[in-house]
Amino acid sequence: MITIPFNKPFLSGNETRYIEQAVKSGKISGNGIFTQKCQQYFEQRYGFGKCLITTSCTDALEMAAILCNLNPGDEVIVPSYTFVSTALAFARQGAKLVFADSSAENPNIDPDSIEGLISEKTKALVIVHYGGMACDMDRIVEASARHHLILIEDCAQAICSQYKGRPLGSFGQMSTFSFHETKNVICGEGGMLAINSPALFHRAEVIWEKGTNRADFSRGIVSKYEWMDTGSSFLPSEITTAFLWGQLENCDNIQRRRIAIWLQYYGLLHDRLSDIGISTSNIAPYATCNGHLFYLLCRSYDERKRLMEHLGGNGILAVSHYLSLHRSPYYRQKLNSGPSIPELPNSDRYEKTLLRLPLYYELETEQVNHICNLILQFYNLS
Ligand SMILES: *Cc1c(COP(=O)(O)O)cnc(C)c1O
Repeated sequence: MITIPFNKPFLSGNETRYIEQAVKSGKISGNGIFTQKCQQYFEQRYGFGKCLITTSCTDALEMAAILCNLNPGDEVIVPSYTFVSTALAFARQGAKLVFADSSAENPNIDPDSIEGLISEKTKALVIVHYGGMACDMDRIVEASARHHLILIEDCAQAICSQYKGRPLGSFGQMSTFSFHETKNVICGEGGMLAINSPALFHRAEVIWEKGTNRADFSRGIVSKYEWMDTGSSFLPSEITTAFLWGQLENCDNIQRRRIAIWLQYYGLLHDRLSDIGISTSNIAPYATCNGHLFYLLCRSYDERKRLMEHLGGNGILAVSHYLSLHRSPYYRQKLNSGPSIPELPNSDRYEKTLLRLPLYYELETEQVNHICNLILQFYNLS
């Protein structure tokens, strides 16, 4: 029986009260008071140019891909070790995907590999700040500027995190966030597109509102709204954003607890495990920790399997994730035009050996101690 789950959604207090308020206000469709409060929160706190709350990070990525204006044959560089949506959005817009490997030190994109993947056809570079830990942004921003690429940050895991003191999500022309229940700040299903390039603001709003200029209509700029462009219904209802506002109000509190749990894992495991060749989540000197996830890199696939079983046998659910996208059935059968798939050894290594430990607000200090003791016992280090 599982007594410590992998994730447990945390209610910070006012979520249901705000939902009731939204319902009683008589307006529960999208782009109302709570949606705007959430968007302003991110614009003011992090200085993002314009924020649009979406129904998911997947949808924010879909919007970003539409805004890239891709033409047939255009290439988009994406990491292989990431969630499906990071790549899917661009494939759907017709891009040829060019998969990048992760670095040897952590699952983020290997900055050394980017230059070699850029061609005449490359239009955009998508990066993922894995576990909320910043990618090596100086080099990434420099490479994308030099080659005139659109830079998109998948910040699904990276809320409240920084690179050299600057918020993640503020480097790319666009960045995308997730409020899925497995992330730090949640609303069930939800996300956000942050747009830092003013040239994209207006079109983004049209795409968000089903291809119409309804937002201009709401502001009194036009007297009727009409079909202007492509788009979809990318905006959530006020019921969702009311919940999200309840979480955002408590964001600092949520972050404080998650970071404390992360630091406890790090303190108990990092040095002891690195002595025997097992690395853990780590924070580069230019980055900050946002307490999103904590992982171990086992020495083999088999070792990971046995450790998962050891923890599972003691009621603790630890999970692996991300099957390299360059090996996925959809990519191999439908998208890959080359004679073979690329060799991406680091991505494959994370796929086979990375193990994520439980991390959620209500996970208690004693429970973290217990999990760490079981891991050290497994490695005969206790
Ligand atoms: C969770 C996640 C997504 C998808 O987010 P949704 O809000 O569930 O659509 C995309 N990219 C990464 C890196 C993620 O971790």
